[in-house]
Amino acid sequence: MAKISINLATGSFQKEEIIVGIDLGTTNSLVAFINPDKNPQVINDSGKGVLVPSVVYFNNQNEAVVGNEAKEFLTTDPSNTIFSVKRLLGRSYKDVADHAATFSYKIIDDDTDALVKIQAGNRFYTPIELSAEILKELKARAEHALKTPVNRAVITVPAYFNDSQRQATRDAGKLAGLDVMRIVNEPTAASLAYGIGLDPSQQKTIAVYDLGGGTFDVSILQIQNGIFEVLATNGNTYLGGDDFDRAILEYWIAQNKLEVTALAQNNVLMQTLRLQAEAAKKALSSQNLYNEKVGEIWCTLDRQTFEQLIAAKVEETITACKNALKDADLSANDIDEVILVGGSTRTPYVKQAVEHFFGKKPQDNINPDEVVALGAAIQADVLAGNRSDILLLDVTPLSLGIETMGGLMDVIIARNSKVPTKAGRQYTTSVDGQVNMKISVYQGERDLVKENRKLAEFDLKGIPAMPAGLPKVDINFLLNADGILTVQAIELRSGVKQEIEITPSYGLSDDTVEKMLLDSIEHAQSDVQQRMLIEARSEGEQLQYTAERFIEKHAEHLTEAEIAETKTHIEALKTALGSQDKDTILKKADELNEFTRPFAERVMDAAISTAMKGKKIE
Ligand code: ADP
Ligand code: MG
Repeated sequence: MAKISINLATGSFQKEEIIVGIDLGTTNSLVAFINPDKNPQVINDSGKGVLVPSVVYFNNQNEAVVGNEAKEFLTTDPSNTIFSVKRLLGRSYKDVADHAATFSYKIIDDDTDALVKIQAGNRFYTPIELSAEILKELKARAEHALKTPVNRAVITVPAYFNDSQRQATRDAGKLAGLDVMRIVNEPTAASLAYGIGLDPSQQKTIAVYDLGGGTFDVSILQIQNGIFEVLATNGNTYLGGDDFDRAILEYWIAQNKLEVTALAQNNVLMQTLRLQAEAAKKALSSQNLYNEKVGEIWCTLDRQTFEQLIAAKVEETITACKNALKDADLSANDIDEVILVGGSTRTPYVKQAVEHFFGKKPQDNINPDEVVALGAAIQADVLAGNRSDILLLDVTPLSLGIETMGGLMDVIIARNSKVPTKAGRQYTTSVDGQVNMKISVYQGERDLVKENRKLAEFDLKGIPAMPAGLPKVDINFLLNADGILTVQAIELRSGVKQEIEITPSYGLSDDTVEKMLLDSIEHAQSDVQQRMLIEARSEGEQLQYTAERFIEKHAEHLTEAEIAETKTHIEALKTALGSQDKDTILKKADELNEFTRPFAERVMDAAISTAMKGKKIE
């Protein structure tokens, strides 16, 4: 849907509203768009620079300052300067507790299972609100540079982000006043920027190696028919260019024989040295020697020494590449292209290590810290309908389903289904005249819903009163490309309908997913037995109900003896239902069924002919 908007600055019409692409990074964020020449371009508003440090500072009026300006407060006012907020998006305190010490601001830990909050000044902020501040800054810069309102965006996230983190990113966009058209995986965006996957006839397997400021990940993607599928991801969310800076800093401290405890107390000097270390690292990407002085401290470093300092960290990333290939069941030879992403891949030693491991020269023509945003802009262009469509595929980690009779899990979308996906099933009522139906949505692999994770519950109300089994209730699950689930229930005879939206993995950590999977394997056998018992019981109860209603309603067509014997069979079934023995239940149910069948048919015929008498058949 292309909208027509008016460019407020020039008064001219702009035919299509621009959808921007945003790389919301841990260290740096940036925004890109497709320029009038149809090429992706990063936005550099008034020469402020392309990269906006992902740092938010709150001054004593609780006003947010974002980017380079905020970064300066890291030393002078660390408790009110929030960095790396992306690590906290969609996470609980429990998820981040191991690393809580690395944050210089206060993360609230009262409820370790709930999503985290951060304190700055006398206020509390959610990571969503903080990310929204960064997004607002990017939106403002884009609007200023492009001289047009920017309301729609594609935002990228790491491939390993779970649904909760994706939803949080989407919410941050909404809060910043952006209509988030799609959440796209960073490696997918990077491949798009290199034009890989734009041609639907292309089939390729690629590796995206992304080494940023504080995080590392490698993704193996398969691209086929314009569809991007993540085969595997691996990495370390606490490994990146910051570690290189730290290694340099420690080296200088040793070289200059600096007093560590004294230094630790001198925040300003520490920060100056840290910035100097980063400058040295960057310089060594294009020269062989760095030589500066900070006061009396010699900040000297040559490339070879630098490479020795970072060798172990780089080796760690290569091990992750190995593991990713293994998970994808591939070898390095199977990889058609390797793409470098993240500012830290500018370091020649990193490039060489990647080239050596994969046995081919990686793609590095596009600035590695801009490539993701550029790709996001291309994806935005696709969504705007300006390019042939491209689908992005992911899989859902756990099965999704609803509770049916006896507390059983009825899976509607199976685990590992590719998203987006759609599935549905038809249900009916179990009691005559039932007008409401409770729909409880669960996630997990166990046969009993009580062992799974409840996501939501709602009532389909206003089903017209009908005999049990007659209403037809369609339950449809639609899981979209961002992992958001819409559950719709509709009674087909009356058209009554109810719908809810759920984010299946909000607050669900990878560890929990893993535990849920392991539990299901461990309990597979007992689960099956329980399921069979419950199914037998439900069947028995349903039959008991129907039989009781039957003799009550149709007493006039039955003999005393038939009624008495039916009651005896019902009693026998009731006794069996009280037991744990599925075979006895099924046997008694069968006997009741067999006994009543002949006269049930007789009564039905009679009832139908009575009913027909009063009605004309048109
Ligand atoms: P993120 O994706 O984590 O937000 P970026 O991709 O922007 O981060 O990468 C930031 C990192 O890249 C920082 O550690 C920065 O020092 C490093 N970096 C930037 N330029 C260079 C360079 N020329 N040489 C080496 N490292 C660099
Ligand atoms: Mg990045």
